[in-house]
Amino acid sequence: MDNTTDQHPTFVTHLECGLEGDHYPADQLHGLSKAGKPLLVKYDLQALSQAVRKEDLLARPSDLWRYREFLPVRNPVNIVSLGEVMTPLIPVPRLSQGRGVLLVKDEGRLPTGSFKARGICMAVSMAKELGLSRIAMPTNGNAGAALAAYASRAQIESYVFCPADTPEINVREIAAQGAKVWRVNGLINDCGRLVGEGKQAMNWFDLSTLKEPYRIEGKKTMGLELAEQFGWRLPDVILYPTGGGTGLIGMWKAFQELKEIGWVDGPLPRMVAVQATGCAPIVRAFESGAEHAPLWENASTVAAGIRVPAAIGDFLILRAVRESNGFATAVSDESILAAQRQAAEQEGVLLCPEGAATLAGYQQELASGRIAAEESVVLFNCATGLKYPMPPVTAQLDCTRPIDYGDL
Ligand SMILES: *Cc1c(COP(=O)(O)O)cnc(C)c1O
Repeated sequence: MDNTTDQHPTFVTHLECGLEGDHYPADQLHGLSKAGKPLLVKYDLQALSQAVRKEDLLARPSDLWRYREFLPVRNPVNIVSLGEVMTPLIPVPRLSQGRGVLLVKDEGRLPTGSFKARGICMAVSMAKELGLSRIAMPTNGNAGAALAAYASRAQIESYVFCPADTPEINVREIAAQGAKVWRVNGLINDCGRLVGEGKQAMNWFDLSTLKEPYRIEGKKTMGLELAEQFGWRLPDVILYPTGGGTGLIGMWKAFQELKEIGWVDGPLPRMVAVQATGCAPIVRAFESGAEHAPLWENASTVAAGIRVPAAIGDFLILRAVRESNGFATAVSDESILAAQRQAAEQEGVLLCPEGAATLAGYQQELASGRIAAEESVVLFNCATGLKYPMPPVTAQLDCTRPIDYGDL
């Protein structure tokens, strides 16, 4: 066994309402705060920084559990893992036309092919630690796939509700990995309502984005990992395809924690929330100066992972974007598809549509001047492009006849 099975203390002190700041005890089951807002996990960072040094990480396996002191699982026997590897940063110079340092963090390498694995492995590990036996969740695809896999591995029952137009491959992988899954004739917020309403009858735990405290902690490892990969400095700008915003909120939390213990210094990255023009509630709220983002009517985009009409952590996303001097921006479906083609053809990087949205956002904002050519920029590709529809190929050859090779 590797050393993740060693006994180790965690440094969780309590949970805190992200809006009101009131406290909740650790080691108990929690959903939302009394105010109906997301709960954030708080750590004794002083004690943490005395228990582990940056150099200690070097001897540990290259997975997200290397940051275990920053994570909430108390007893390592409760860790539910499918091999959450560190994901590479891939330089894509042709996509910045050689003007800036542009890197893709390729989260498609994670179990179940998306970064949802980071959040779900943490939430399911905590569900196991807290003794849960049945979990339910709404999903646009990838979160449900991760839940199905990790819940089956933990021998926890899972119930998953998807919008009817969720890509076939996602619905099938959810079913194949042992969840009960339904297509619902609505959007993800409608699916979320079913999970809420069914709680009484089914006694399941609601693992929806930000409706439990631990998915953020899993996604936080993207920030810890980036800091380590950048030699404990950070890039100037991070572009994040923003649906529920877990990753953006989680990374910003990671940077605050690292700053507080003195592991990183200097300015923190500007956090840029990228949405689609067909579903841009956060962009609209950012531009109007609002603290919350009202529901976006008739949400539609090819990037299903960011088709989230209302985010319960809206104020946390907006807070991170503003505190970091970042911004929120929307890109069209046409520019998403064009960026996806360009990355694949010019750099051999098959982005998911949501990842392609960050590339489209980068190109748009380089042109607008909101991102400067000399800035170092990280784009998040959140899922493997292989899970998504690709243009058909119609070319055929008849190997029983002579072939005119000059014509190929
Ligand atoms: C879930 C998802 C997103 C959005 O992530 P959040 O942290 O919920 O905002 C983006 N891209 C893909 C591929 C996703 O599955």
